[in-house]
Amino acid sequence: MDVANTSWSGLLANLAIIAILISVWTHSQELTGRWPRQVYLALLAAMTSGGTIALMNLPFEIQPGVITDLRTTLIALSGFLGGPVVGVATGIVTALYRFHLGGIGWPAGVVGVTVATCVGIGGHLLLRGRSPNRRDVFVFATAAATGGLVGFFFLPDGIWQPAITKAGLPTVALIFVSTVIAGLAIVQENRRRETASANLIYRAIIDSLPDSLNAKDLDGRFTAANPRTAELMMAESPQALVGRTDFDFYPPDTAKAFRDDEDKVIAGGEAMTIEQRLVHRDGSKAWLSTMKVPLRDDAGKIIGLITHNRDITDRKLLEDEYAESQRRLSDALTFMADGLVMFDKNERLVFCNEQYRTLFPKTADLRVPGTQFRDLLRATIERGEQGGVEAGKIEEWIDRVAASLGKAGDQEIQLVDGRWLHARVRPIADGASLSVISDITHQKQAEASLSELNERLEALARTDALTGLLNRRAFDEALEHEFRRGARTAAPLSLLMIDVDHFKAFNDTYGHPAGDDCLRKLAQCLQQTIKRPADTAARYGGEELAAILPDTSPEGAVLLAEDFRNAVRELAIPHSGSDKGIVTVSIGVSTLGRGNTIGAHDDLVHRADEALYAAKEAGRDRVQGGRPTLAAVGTAGRAAASSR
Ligand code: GH3
Ligand code: MG
Ligand code: MG
Repeated sequence: MDVANTSWSGLLANLAIIAILISVWTHSQELTGRWPRQVYLALLAAMTSGGTIALMNLPFEIQPGVITDLRTTLIALSGFLGGPVVGVATGIVTALYRFHLGGIGWPAGVVGVTVATCVGIGGHLLLRGRSPNRRDVFVFATAAATGGLVGFFFLPDGIWQPAITKAGLPTVALIFVSTVIAGLAIVQENRRRETASANLIYRAIIDSLPDSLNAKDLDGRFTAANPRTAELMMAESPQALVGRTDFDFYPPDTAKAFRDDEDKVIAGGEAMTIEQRLVHRDGSKAWLSTMKVPLRDDAGKIIGLITHNRDITDRKLLEDEYAESQRRLSDALTFMADGLVMFDKNERLVFCNEQYRTLFPKTADLRVPGTQFRDLLRATIERGEQGGVEAGKIEEWIDRVAASLGKAGDQEIQLVDGRWLHARVRPIADGASLSVISDITHQKQAEASLSELNERLEALARTDALTGLLNRRAFDEALEHEFRRGARTAAPLSLLMIDVDHFKAFNDTYGHPAGDDCLRKLAQCLQQTIKRPADTAARYGGEELAAILPDTSPEGAVLLAEDFRNAVRELAIPHSGSDKGIVTVSIGVSTLGRGNTIGAHDDLVHRADEALYAAKEAGRDRVQGGRPTLAAVGTAGRAAASSR
């Protein structure tokens, strides 16, 4: 270069070129960021190479006789910020151009370019991909400035010594300062861009939050809010909130309560989380989980507060509903009349109500969650609450009762104190079982007295009121029953038909009540005469009695009839209307043997009646054996003869 610029205008021109390039570089980054990487790097390399050529065409005199330019700064920065590709490209282009310019200083110039390229790329690699900070810029500028001295030593002998003495320090200073200024500009710009993009991300996150997030100043005025806040507060938009307070959106009481809480946070400087009920201006109610955090400036001074609200209305409603149903269930279990107990699949008591414990007073202390069902059963036997289990069979009984827990069924439990319990067992989910225990003692007692009453009524229905013997209906049933039994066993069946002699006259003479009394005595006498448990005495009708004698031969029956006739005579009841002077009876006897046929027992009665008639005919006060029935002929008659 023949003509150097004057020092100041040249220096300014150099600085201006660097400033313009850096400015274009940083501002074009947003635009070129979307281009393919190779295109971007090629453009960058072209720009920095063009820049160094421009700088070399605008040299300035740094000291009288010493001409220089700021190419070192641009080459180093291109490698440091643009990476190896841009750095090397810029270095090569610059070195070639320096060589093209020629002159005695070209070797020194090429060396200077190489050193600057190496410093730039070296610095870039040391960063390992992170963005440079201010400190990095200062360290890098120092390296570049120091490297700028290396070129001096490659000037011809006799030139480099005075050049380095005169211009060394100013050169170092100029490269350092220009590198720092340019580097800081880029660092600052990078930081601005990073902050802007981070802000964009934060904003997007905050806007898409399902929760309300907002900031207020110390006076409670909104300074920022996300869309969910606007929605919650029924405002048109987040912007519509800015500058306004809760008093503009909520009833005064609600807004005042909010403000009081916020004052506490501002005064205390501590974050606060609360669940609060909210009434909108339209009267609708909601629940919010709210966190209020003081907002501080860089110096730590509180300048407002940040509020985070989560709408928990649905959760609260569910909680209330759950609590209400729990309360209802608990009431139902507590106040139900029956005992209720639940055992899990391991037969462990998990729940029971008070009534359940009350039903088992001797083992109530054990009837609590955690107790094994088998232990309860054992205790109920050991403590004498439940009986009826043999000492050696307790474990067997426990196994049997425990097994019943697994299947649906109803059981009745009799306690030693006389109470009866009814247990209704139902398996439920997960192998657990639920039992409802009721006290059925009253029911049991009612059942018992009812069946006793029935028995008494039944007995009454079968008994003759006057004599206490079986009545006619019961006689028919008994005869039918004995007939069938006799048919099975092939045993003979005998029947006595008894009629009081001249009884009409007795009544006429002594009166009806005396007649009744006489009948009672005869009935008693008959009852005493027949001795076998199976023998049955009945009042056949009027003053006629009958005796059914199972398993009795005709001979035995006749003997028994004679016994009774004599016993009646021995009663010696006066009867002036009779030629005997006392009450006597006539008796007809019939017997049925093996091979009974249907209707044969009617035949038996008929024959006994016939015999009775014959006894009357023959003069009364006698026993008349009946003509043998078909069945009585043969073995039955003989076999039965020995039985009386
Ligand atoms: P016979 O020797 O032929 O049997 O003569 P009788 O008078 O006993 O004749 P019958 O058997 O026909 O008479 C039955 C009488 O028995 C009629 C009635 O006055 C009497 N009698 C029947 N039932 C009762 C009764 O329940 N109480 C009393 N006191 N008398 C009865
Ligand atoms: Mg009669
Ligand atoms: Mg009679």
